[in-house]
Amino acid sequence: MRTQNRITVAHGDGIGPEIMDATLRIMDAANVGLIYDTIEIGEKVYKAGHKSGISPASWEILRNNKVFLKAPITTPQGGGYKSLNVTIRKSLGLFSNVRPFRAYPPFVPSYFPLMDLVIVRENEEDLYAGIEHQQTSEVVQTLKLISDPGSEKIIRYAFEYARAYNRKKVTCMTKDNIMKHTDGMFHKIFDKVKLEYPEIQSDHWIIDIGSAVVASRPESLDVVVTLNLYGDIISDIAAEVAGSVGMAGSANIGMSHGMFEAIHGSAPDIAGKDIANPSGLLNGAFMMLVQMGKADKAELIQNAWLRTLEDGIHTGDIYRANRSVKKVGTKEFADAVIERLGQKPEKLKAVEYRNDVLISINVPEKPAMKKELVGIDVFIDWRESDRDPNVIGDKLLNEGSTDRLKLKLISNRGVLVYPEGVPEIFKTDHWRCRYTNPNGEIVNNADVIELIQKIHAIGFDFIKTEHLYHFDGERGYSLSQGE
Ligand code: NAD
Repeated sequence: MRTQNRITVAHGDGIGPEIMDATLRIMDAANVGLIYDTIEIGEKVYKAGHKSGISPASWEILRNNKVFLKAPITTPQGGGYKSLNVTIRKSLGLFSNVRPFRAYPPFVPSYFPLMDLVIVRENEEDLYAGIEHQQTSEVVQTLKLISDPGSEKIIRYAFEYARAYNRKKVTCMTKDNIMKHTDGMFHKIFDKVKLEYPEIQSDHWIIDIGSAVVASRPESLDVVVTLNLYGDIISDIAAEVAGSVGMAGSANIGMSHGMFEAIHGSAPDIAGKDIANPSGLLNGAFMMLVQMGKADKAELIQNAWLRTLEDGIHTGDIYRANRSVKKVGTKEFADAVIERLGQKPEKLKAVEYRNDVLISINVPEKPAMKKELVGIDVFIDWRESDRDPNVIGDKLLNEGSTDRLKLKLISNRGVLVYPEGVPEIFKTDHWRCRYTNPNGEIVNNADVIELIQKIHAIGFDFIKTEHLYHFDGERGYSLSQGE
C-alpha cells in the first residue's frame, strides 16, 4: 500500500458524492499527491445486473490500485443482491476492521468525554461465512467457523496497532464460557500472543459484560480485539455513545489491500442538500494516508479538521445554538478545513503520526496436528412415538449400533434425553446421537460408513454427521450436558 500514489475512489450513493467531493478537495488542498481512478459502485451497478454491486472492469482497477477510498452506497432491498462490503472484504483478504471512536467534548456532546477507543474487529470469519442449512422442519443452523491463523492474524494486528499508535492496553472480548472451542481458541491465542508484548497491558472480558462496559465505561477501554459478530455489535454501541455516528471512520486492512470509508450509510434522507457531515469519510481518509506512508499529510488535515470543530464550524447534525458558532453545509465545512490547514487545535488534543508505522503481520503456517477419530455424532430427523427418547434410543442402541461404534447418548437442543433424560424436557424433531467405540479404541471412516448404512437400513433419516476428533491428544468437541 506504500508503493504507489494511485488509489481507487468511488463516490457511492445518497450523500456519497457530496462527502467524497469535500474529502478529495481537502486532500488536494493539502497536496497529498494522490492520483484517483474513479469507479462506479452501488445502486446503479446493482440495478444494471451486477449482483455484487461492482462490474468486473472496476474490480480490476480495485485489485491493481490496492487502496480504495469508498463513499457509502445504497444496497437495494431483496432481489438476491449481495453486500458489496462483504464481497470486497473477503475477495481482497481485508481481515482487519479498525474503527476508532473518540469523543470531541465540549464541541460535540458525548456521554463519555474521555472516550478514545479503537475496535479491531475480525473481518472475514465467524457467522459471516453465511453457511446456513435448514435440517428438519423445526431446526435451522448457521455455521460459526473460526480458524487458528485467522484468529492469530487479527490478534497480532491488534497488538501491533497498539504498539504503533502508543496505546496502553488491548482487551479481548469473547464468549468462551459457552463456546469453549471457537471462542476458546481465540482467547487462548490471545493469551499466547500477549506474552510477546509485555509493555502493553491486556485483559479479557466476556462479550456480554464487555458490551456493557463499552456502553457504560468506554473510557476504561483502549484497543478492543474481538470476533466478527461481536465487533459489529459493539462498534455500533461505541459509535452511539461517542456521540459521533456521522464522524467515525473505518479501515478494512489486509496483507496487500485496504479499503477506507465512513461507518455511516448513504443517508438518502439528506442526499443532494449540501448538509451532510463529511467527517466520517475524512476520518477514513486519515487512516488511509497513514497506511500509505503519508503520516505528515494525515496529521496536517486531521489537526485542521479538529481546529474547525473547535472553532464551532459545524454541520447540521452536530450544530447546537449554545455551543456552535456557525452552521455550515458540506462544501462550506470543507472550505473551513482547507482554510485551517497548518493550524492545530488548542483545546482538543492534536494528533501526531509517525511515518515509520508499518504494521506487517506474519503468521507462519503451523504443522498439521495429530488427528484421531474417537466417535461420531449422527443427527437424525425424527418425530414418531410422541418423540419418546427411549423409543429412538433403544432402537439405535440395539439395532443401529455396530461392534466398532455404539450409541452412547442422545441429546435434543444440547440437553441429554437418553439414557435417563427427564420427561419434562422440550424435544424438537432434531436428535443428536453420539456414538463412540465401546473399548475406547480409535475408529476410522470405514467404521463410520458401516454405522451410517446400518442406521439407514433400520429406517432412520440421518441428516448430518460430525466427527469426534482428538487433536494432539486433546478433545476437539464439546461434551454433551451430563456426559
Ligand atoms: P445511514 O447511516 O445512512 O443514516 C442514518 C441517519 O444518520 C440518517 O438520519 C442520516 O441522515 C444520518 N446521517 C448519516 N450519515 C450522516 C452524515 N454524514 N451527516 C449527517 N447525517 C448523517 O443509515 P440508514 O439510513 O440505515 O441506511 C441508508 C442506506 O445506507 C441503506 O441502503 C444501507 O444499506 C446503506 N449503508 C451503507 C453502508 C456502506 O456503504 N458502508 C453502511 C451502512 C448503511
